[in-house]
Amino acid sequence: MPQKVRVRFAPSPTGPLHIGGVRTALFNYLFAKKHGGDFLLRIEDTDQNRFVEGAEEYIVEALNWLNIPFDEGPKTSHFAGGGDYGPYRQSERKELYKQYADKLLESGDAYYAFDTAEELDAHRADHEAKGKTFIYNWHNRLKLKNSLVFSETETQQKIANGEEYVIRFKSPENETLFLKDMIRGGMQVETNILDDKVLFKSDGMPTYHLANIVDDHLMKITHVIRGEEWLPSLALHVLLYRAFGWDAPKFAHLPLILKPTGNGKLSKRDGDKMGFPVFPLQWKTSDGDVFSGYREDGYLPEAVINMLAFLGWNPGTEKEIFSLDQLIQEFDLSRVNKAGAKFDPEKTKWFQNQY
Ligand code: GLU
Repeated sequence: MPQKVRVRFAPSPTGPLHIGGVRTALFNYLFAKKHGGDFLLRIEDTDQNRFVEGAEEYIVEALNWLNIPFDEGPKTSHFAGGGDYGPYRQSERKELYKQYADKLLESGDAYYAFDTAEELDAHRADHEAKGKTFIYNWHNRLKLKNSLVFSETETQQKIANGEEYVIRFKSPENETLFLKDMIRGGMQVETNILDDKVLFKSDGMPTYHLANIVDDHLMKITHVIRGEEWLPSLALHVLLYRAFGWDAPKFAHLPLILKPTGNGKLSKRDGDKMGFPVFPLQWKTSDGDVFSGYREDGYLPEAVINMLAFLGWNPGTEKEIFSLDQLIQEFDLSRVNKAGAKFDPEKTKWFQNQY
């Protein structure tokens, strides 16, 4: 029997979602519903330093306003989603991730690292002076004059002495990885250029990479549909699945949303400059800045959904007006472009006028 399609939208609550994030949520939703699958919302809030008050509420409210509800979540959460449950929140699952970091330590796919920020800066500066980039991996650490690698006994001693450590992934050496993306096709990556990324931080929290992979596996995610900015992490993610002995989901990286000029990524401030919203809802920063939102500006959610669908996707016909149900019927990842999608305020107004 084919596996049930399960996808997730996994924003970090570091601020309000602008249309890039909401477009990712929409494409996940359309893909799930087209295939009779589930759409999950997972708040990736393991980075306490970047947490922004109110961002989670904003995400849930924006999805509710746009009518793209998520299908499941814990009953204990304090936000009501589509039903009497809220989104998954990684901060509520944090005990779990350490067990998985420990598994990788046991299998030799991860290691404790004690180097301080100063030591790392010094090594970086040293390399730069020689016109080289310091790639932080096991192999290079062994070659350093003041090697950062310690024996098993030294490591245990350092931990017993209460020294701060992080847990890093040990990238394999001298391997060529063949990666596949549903939108971009095949890619080759040499493992020697990969840094050994931190999986577990000294504050006892997992990093995005570890928590994201563990959750995607435990939540039985079949397709990871996310923004192109995550493409550089694909090699590490595939290696993590392999190290755990898990099947990796399929990946699809969505094109960037560009400024109307096509010159760079559309930013939050661009909306202000254009006098045009790039947010679904209004957002007030703690400094008192107010960003205008489609809802408050009187746009209909149907028009916004229709506009978002055309940011990087096309139906392959002349038809431009689609209800959410029609989009579900027509949506296909093979019709998502590789090239960045230009945001066009005029076209957005045009969509609004059709409703
Ligand atoms: N938390 C990441 C973000 O904020 C999720 C990326 C992913 O979907 O894997 O975009």
